[in-house]
Amino acid sequence: MRVLTISGIFAVDEAASPGKEIVYGLTSTTRLLVVSLIKSNLFPILSLMLDSTVIAPFLGMHSWFLDEHSRSLFKKAHSLNFWEMPEQDDAYNQILNNAMVSDSNFLTDIILRECGDVFLGINSLIDVGGGQGGAARAIAIAFPQMKCTVLDLPHVIAEAPSDVHVSFISGDMFKYIPPANALFLKWVFHDWGDEDCVKLLKNCKEAIPPRDAGGKVIIVDMVVGSGLNEIVTRETHVLYDLFIMCVEGIEREEFEWKRIFMEAGFGDYKIISVLGVRSVIELYP
Ligand code: SAH
Repeated sequence: MRVLTISGIFAVDEAASPGKEIVYGLTSTTRLLVVSLIKSNLFPILSLMLDSTVIAPFLGMHSWFLDEHSRSLFKKAHSLNFWEMPEQDDAYNQILNNAMVSDSNFLTDIILRECGDVFLGINSLIDVGGGQGGAARAIAIAFPQMKCTVLDLPHVIAEAPSDVHVSFISGDMFKYIPPANALFLKWVFHDWGDEDCVKLLKNCKEAIPPRDAGGKVIIVDMVVGSGLNEIVTRETHVLYDLFIMCVEGIEREEFEWKRIFMEAGFGDYKIISVLGVRSVIELYP
C-alpha cells in the first residue's frame, strides 16, 4: 500500500489520527478505473496495456535491436503480427476490442465537447478502423442526422454489438473504403509505418468528395510536440512512441504527419490540440 500511495494510486486520509487504522481513498486518477463511478471507465485499456501478450514483446527488445529488427517486436515474440493475433485468439480479440471501446467512450465525449464543430455539416461519416463502434456511436447520438458507419476487420465486426445508431461493414481499409462525406480515423495511423499510411491516405482521398463539397478526413492521434508544453505531456508522447514501436507503429511529429499527407496528395491540414496528449487533425483534399 505504501508503493501504491506514493505512486498516486491511492490517497491516505491525512486526518486519521496516529495509532488509528489508516484510511485509503481513490485519487482523481484511480476514479477513472472504477466501473461504477464514471460512465466510461478506463480499466479495459489499462488491462490491454498490462496484458502479457503486449508486455512480452518488450522483453525481447535487446536481441531485436541487435539483429532482428526486420520483424516487429510483437511478431518476434508471437510469430504473428499485432492484427493477426486477435484473429486467432478470441480472448485476446475481446480484450483488444473492449480496450478500444473504453478509450473511445472516454475520449469521444471530450472531442464532442471541446471541438464538436469539426463534425458540423457532415451527412455521412465512416469510422475507418473504428473497432466495435465506441466513437461512432457517440458521434451518431450527438449528430442524429449523420449516417455513421464503422469499417473494420471481419473478426472485429463479427463480435460488435448491434446498434440502432451505427451500421457496421467488414473489410480491409488498405483495399477499399466506401464513399462518404467524411472519414474518421482514431488511433489508426500510429499503428502503421509511412508507406502503409500513405497507401491508406490515398484510399481515404478516393472515398471523399473535394474540399469545396465538404470532403475531409478527421484524424485523432498524437502529434508529438503539440499540446501543453508540460513535462508530463512530453513524457507521455515519447513513451507512447516507444510503446507503439511494439507493433511497428510510430507517434509522429508535425513534420512527419505533413510529409505523409503531402505524399498522399492532400492539400491542407489543421491541428487542433485540445485533448491533452492527443490531437484532432482535420485533413482536406
Ligand atoms: N478506432 C478505434 C480502434 C483503434 S485500434 C478506437 O480508437 O477505438 C485500430 C483498429 O484498426 C482495430 O480495430 C483494428 O482491427 C483495425 N484494423 C487493423 N487493420 C485493419 C484493416 N486492414 N482494415 C480495417 N481495419 C483494420
